[in-house]
Amino acid sequence: MKIHEYQAKEIFNKSGMPVPKGRVIASSDEAPKVCQIINGPPWVVKAQVHAGGRGKGGGVKVVHDPSEVIAAAESLLGKSLVTPQTGPEGVKVRQVLIEEGVDIAREFYLGMVIDRAAAKPAMIFSQAGGMSIEEVASQTPELIWTEYVDPAVGWMPYQGRNLVYKLDPLPSPGAIKQLMAVMAAVYKVFMTLDCSLVEINPLAVTVSDGVLALDAKMNIDDNALFRQKEVLKLDDSSETDPLELMAATYNLNYIRLDGNIGAMVNGAGLAMATMDLIKGAGAEPANFLDVGGGATEEMITNGFEIILKDRRVKAILVNIFGGILRCDVLARGVVAAAEKSGMRIPLIIRLEGTNVTEGRKVLEDSGVKFLVAKDLSEAAGLVASQVSGEN
Ligand code: GDP
Ligand code: MN
Repeated sequence: MKIHEYQAKEIFNKSGMPVPKGRVIASSDEAPKVCQIINGPPWVVKAQVHAGGRGKGGGVKVVHDPSEVIAAAESLLGKSLVTPQTGPEGVKVRQVLIEEGVDIAREFYLGMVIDRAAAKPAMIFSQAGGMSIEEVASQTPELIWTEYVDPAVGWMPYQGRNLVYKLDPLPSPGAIKQLMAVMAAVYKVFMTLDCSLVEINPLAVTVSDGVLALDAKMNIDDNALFRQKEVLKLDDSSETDPLELMAATYNLNYIRLDGNIGAMVNGAGLAMATMDLIKGAGAEPANFLDVGGGATEEMITNGFEIILKDRRVKAILVNIFGGILRCDVLARGVVAAAEKSGMRIPLIIRLEGTNVTEGRKVLEDSGVKFLVAKDLSEAAGLVASQVSGEN
């Protein structure tokens, strides 16, 4: 789960980390009031979306007059923001953060992730902050430094020194102390909130020699949300694809993709193989949908409903291997969904396994129009031919 920058900064602030003072607003009408509470000029107006690279996409504006704060908020709110991380259609900005601007002397990168190879949390620090860390990693990897943490021992002050004393030139003793305190706090937040990522880019040293987290990114491990009830309250569902949200409430494994072939499959492996076959036949899948081995008729109906709600879907491939999920159960689910929605797009079905004869009969007796494929590659070829010319 991702949270917004302003939410992460509130958590940072409570954890004793230095962040600029700021207020989040959802309407530019609130901007004049905020300018009176938050020190400026300059002010920084920042789009709150679950995507990075906002600086490059025009989502971060440094301004020097309250009228410019209002104009900046107006130019962002309600609009779509395109950044290197959003895709060409961008994401809608619903909130902006107005902060006191600071004069930056130096920008560092600080992040913590789980390093899967080392099986430990890794603190990553770099002198080359403020820019894309991916670029730094590929072009000047020697400027990125890592300390692994043994969770049984925790973050140790010497590890902070290892990282900070690599800086050239060395910051002032006061700034060194503050940078080390931020590292210790990042580790604490990372562990107590079950994060998969905590990232501060830039972690700035100001011209008055203060240390400030100017940006904040925090992802929480979905598998730990059951014990992170407070964090769960910060979830902004408007940032999630509505169909993925719907799928989550139905307990379906669904991921939206870019193509136009809807696919419904049972089992993650079979779903992956089916997507490969669709691509192999020259078409593009519109989604990954694994209804699961023990899917009920209701879950099939729900899955079908989600696929049909996606307007880009021009044909549907149902590929079910009946095991625990019997083919007749699947067939009744498909028929119910097709009737409910008045489906008008081609449907290709490949069924095999338990109760396959009964399943085929349910489909044949239903009046739902569909094509039956005898095997996987024929199914993929059939579904691709339904949309050829559209891609
Ligand atoms: P991102 O591009 O989505 O990572 O957004 P950031 O929060 O990192 O902002 C982008 C850039 O804006 C930063 O790297 C800074 O260089 C700049 N920036 C952010 N806050 C301030 C500020 O208070 N003063 C100044 N001068 N620049 C800022
Ligand atoms: Mn940043």
